[in-house]
Amino acid sequence: MRIPDLSEACAAELASLCWPDGFRCPQCGHDHGWYCSTRRHYECARCSHQTSLTAGTLFHGSHVPLTKWFWALYWVGTDTGGISALRLSQLIDVQWRTADSM
Ligand SMILES: [Zn+2]
Repeated sequence: MRIPDLSEACAAELASLCWPDGFRCPQCGHDHGWYCSTRRHYECARCSHQTSLTAGTLFHGSHVPLTKWFWALYWVGTDTGGISALRLSQLIDVQWRTADSM
């Protein structure tokens, strides 16, 4: 299966998960920041604190590309019967062990 490159869409989606009410600087609480797509982080407009989108989440330190995580979450979320690790590994083309840890 070909995984479309949705990394930008994923990053935006992830940001909305991290900050459902919009960006919030973890350092000073300011609510305005700029998204830097090349480095995939937000920079606070007030204190310039840089926040990685993946820091502190299950995505952080994962060698699995963000797009695959989103597909995994998508499949797990849409499969009402509960998706098996084996099925997931086939769907998003990762090792069974990786899918299992997801
Ligand atoms: Zn700040």
